[in-house]
Amino acid sequence: MKKDVVLYASIIIDISHENVDRVFQYRIPEELLPQIRIGTQVQVPFGAGNRTRKGFVVEITDKAEYDIAKIKEIAGVVSGSVTAGSQLIELAWWMKERYGSTMNQALKTVLPVKRKVKARNKQVVETLVTGECAGTADRNPEQQEHAKAAALSPEHGNVTLNPEQQKIVTAFRTAYDRGERTPWLIHGITGSGKTEVYMDMIDHVLAQGRQVIVLIPEIALTYQTVMRFYRRFGSRICVMHSRLSAGERYDQFERAKNGETDIMIGARSALFTPFPRLGLIIVDEEHESAYKSEVTPRYHAREVAEKLAQMNDAQLVMGSATPSVEAYARAEAGLYRLFTLTRRAVSGSIPPTTEVVDLRQEMQAGNKSIFSRRLKELIGDRLLKKEQVMLFMNRRGYSSFVSCRSCGEAVKCPHCDVSLTLHNRNRLVCHYCGYTIPLPKTCPTCGSPYLAGFGIGTQKIEELTRQMFPEARVLRMDLDTTSKKGGHEAILSAFAKGEADILIGTQMIVKGHDFPGVTLVGILAADVSLYAPDYRCGERTFELLVQAAGRAGRGRRPGIAVIQTYMPDHYSIQAAARQDYGAFFRQEMGYRRLMAYPPACHLLTMQVAGKDEELTGHMMDLIRESVVRRFGAETAVIGPVPAPVYKVNDIYRKILYMKQENYDILIRIQKYIQDRWDETEDCRKLTIQYDFT
Ligand code: ADP
Ligand code: ZN
Ligand code: ZN
Repeated sequence: MKKDVVLYASIIIDISHENVDRVFQYRIPEELLPQIRIGTQVQVPFGAGNRTRKGFVVEITDKAEYDIAKIKEIAGVVSGSVTAGSQLIELAWWMKERYGSTMNQALKTVLPVKRKVKARNKQVVETLVTGECAGTADRNPEQQEHAKAAALSPEHGNVTLNPEQQKIVTAFRTAYDRGERTPWLIHGITGSGKTEVYMDMIDHVLAQGRQVIVLIPEIALTYQTVMRFYRRFGSRICVMHSRLSAGERYDQFERAKNGETDIMIGARSALFTPFPRLGLIIVDEEHESAYKSEVTPRYHAREVAEKLAQMNDAQLVMGSATPSVEAYARAEAGLYRLFTLTRRAVSGSIPPTTEVVDLRQEMQAGNKSIFSRRLKELIGDRLLKKEQVMLFMNRRGYSSFVSCRSCGEAVKCPHCDVSLTLHNRNRLVCHYCGYTIPLPKTCPTCGSPYLAGFGIGTQKIEELTRQMFPEARVLRMDLDTTSKKGGHEAILSAFAKGEADILIGTQMIVKGHDFPGVTLVGILAADVSLYAPDYRCGERTFELLVQAAGRAGRGRRPGIAVIQTYMPDHYSIQAAARQDYGAFFRQEMGYRRLMAYPPACHLLTMQVAGKDEELTGHMMDLIRESVVRRFGAETAVIGPVPAPVYKVNDIYRKILYMKQENYDILIRIQKYIQDRWDETEDCRKLTIQYDFT
């Protein structure tokens, strides 16, 4: 190293302190240089009398930000300081930069809040097993004992991997031992046995004394899923889900840090488990939109997992039956290694056959029911054969609202720009802010008494199903029936035990449970999700259809999926009907390239929100102007446009889009906007949010 280069470290002094965005610069003494990197814990003189305080290095630079003569020196490195904790600080720094948040927001995301936990010596897994877990509370004592016994004697998985699975596991062992760390993407059709493959990989990594994080979307994190891991790995696993309190989460992380556990299974935030020897990260159902955080920093778990794996020399393995366009494009570009599982794992089980029904023709034939003639016939047939049926509908865009037959106005939320949704036939609820009123007797706009429900919700479908098939036992799963603690799990397990013939539900019924008795899946209105104002709607539709169809015929009897649609020619529906991911990907990628949408391009979405509509609009125009002036030559700036729902809770929201192939330029734009923002007095009355894709 050249002798005259002096390096400075930016240091956060006390991370439990609120104002951690304040960093202090210190000179790095030459003899400490080799030991210091981002995340290292150091001792520095601080405040009056230069008392020594501990701090974390968050940035290293050769530029002094103050008068050089006044910059103090780092006193020493805290021994054993490169810990899992300091790694998370490095990760927080990376997230702050990449997603345009403050360091404070990033630290709050990666570090669990320390709170006193009430004495609670039972492990969470045990509570999941012995009945505290949702859905098992209603088990009788005998069943509970049985479950406990099953759990306490973890057995080795007794399935023998099929050749496709075996090939992947063998390749994994070889690559892992050689230290090859390119991320993996496993594209395996529904029911192809990805979980079994993950478990063998986990075995291999554990045997080397390293630890594992398994991400599973919250909605799929069911008793059934957790039990599969528990049977194989026993008390070495730890589960992190959103029903845990902040204190309990903190406890789980402490156990991981102290080496009391080796496998953390959980939703997005399980990524921040402070394992000292992380060796493998698995991201199951990689395509799930729940992997993207909805609060700042709006990180994507796949991207953070990739970074975290890199920092730890760990392997990242992702899996899905319908990989996200982003991930598949990365695999095609050689950034990920791609593996495929093309057949169902259970011997004798084959992928479902799919039939598309054109709802326009049904209407022409005089059938106004929600069941096409073909679907009705198949349901009747399954009921006779005592096989099970799932009826699936897309929650969003298909809920029922109430409108006036005289003036045509829908009854809207007074605080948000959306129609209210009818619940239990007597209440209207706003799904954005929770505003609730009894169903009015007259139109709030014109006073007419002729109000009527439109659209169709899961409740209505249940009603129509019972009318059409009075002999069938019907279960419904949606927000209303699952809001009670354990409702979700109770309905799924009742259906799995054969206590109903037909399960009706939203996205919720598509994930996390294996129902071998289901031989028919009906998708009532496949195209509703195609109308969403989002460039991803084609992808979401394809994914929902394939995943929903994939629920059929998971046992030994073959399954059929019926897709009812008004747009039978749309490529998402066509490709889903043929279960042809490749065809879908090529069409979709062509469209993304044409429109310069991710992953063909990067997208920075900036949202400004405020109570004052005029000020919000005015600031947005100013920002647009200055971004165009400074970056317009190289970057497409689109908008400002009103957010898809312009007003929520009496707050107005506007959006500006910036498209750019180079992510670093988007980061520069974000910093530029934030700097102007911080300087502007009026902006204190508004909020700003960034979202990078
Ligand atoms: P995926 O995660 O790909 O949807 P799973 O791992 O859940 O698939 O496997 C689907 C079903 O097949 C499960 O019931 C699982 O126990 C079973 N299974 C997986 N691999 C095998 C195998 N090699 N032999 C027999 N059954 C298997
Ligand atoms: Zn009216
Ligand atoms: Zn509202």
